[in-house]
Amino acid sequence: MISIYKNCRLCPRKCGVNRYINHGFCGTGTEILAAKASLHQWEEPCISYRNGAGTVFFSGCNLHCCFCQNNKISNELFGKKLNTAELSDVFLSLQDKGADNIELVTPTHFVPDIINALDRVKHRLEIPVIYNSGGYELIETIELLNGYIDIYMPDIKYFSPEVSARYSNAPDYFEYASSAVLSMISQAGKPVYNEHGGLIKGVLIRHMVLPSLRHDSMKIIDWIAENIPADSALVSIMNQYTPFDFIDEKFSEIKRRVTKMEYNSVVRHAVSLGINGFTQQASSSSEKYVPDFDLAGL
Ligand code: SF4
Repeated sequence: MISIYKNCRLCPRKCGVNRYINHGFCGTGTEILAAKASLHQWEEPCISYRNGAGTVFFSGCNLHCCFCQNNKISNELFGKKLNTAELSDVFLSLQDKGADNIELVTPTHFVPDIINALDRVKHRLEIPVIYNSGGYELIETIELLNGYIDIYMPDIKYFSPEVSARYSNAPDYFEYASSAVLSMISQAGKPVYNEHGGLIKGVLIRHMVLPSLRHDSMKIIDWIAENIPADSALVSIMNQYTPFDFIDEKFSEIKRRVTKMEYNSVVRHAVSLGINGFTQQASSSSEKYVPDFDLAGL
């Protein structure tokens, strides 16, 4: 499994680098890098429903979006090195603290290590494991995770190749993300809940509305309505886009918040098509909702 790193093709970037020697597009080698492990209260109500999601924030990313809300860890690679035994201990520690689940945030580039870490403790974990990713995934990598992941939480960020090329250098983003989401649904099945209303199995697709891009959002909603039966996955339309100072001036069109009109028009479109899921208050757009990446819990 770890030999995958010798010619890494874990994600659609297919860098083909030997990560024992070099870094690929995601910026990481063979050592797990993480920036925080803690109980997180602000996920959707079916994910943070009692004590909070047991989030593990991994550093590095295969997208490097120019507006990333977790820039310090995804682009600047802040984090602490862990081995698989230490990662296993982090999972058990979150469970001991009462986590509703183990939520792996931006895990794609560490899938082989995550599988090894889960192999060590899966028999002791009594809570679901969530794979929360940017959606830029290969079906082959999702298939490796069969039997390890209970809930998939993929983003679908962009529809248009021009938009995904501009903000994430990934003109083929939608092609890969849409195929990956269908593969996740066929693997995880329809949503299943426990007696507390917590999701224990299934897929929750997330989409964050961006400034000036509501029509791109609506095309994603159209694709979901046409391709995914309403009872087969949940959809969360997010309103937490925050225009951070580090965004380059050449992306001036996204250096502002999403307006109420923009967000509400996307939600209205989803409702009109019978989409099943969650919306967010405008107050979610704030730097205070960005986790403090302080290596806590690692
Ligand atoms: S996981 Fe990283 S190194 Fe591997 S293909 Fe993707 S971006 Fe490249």
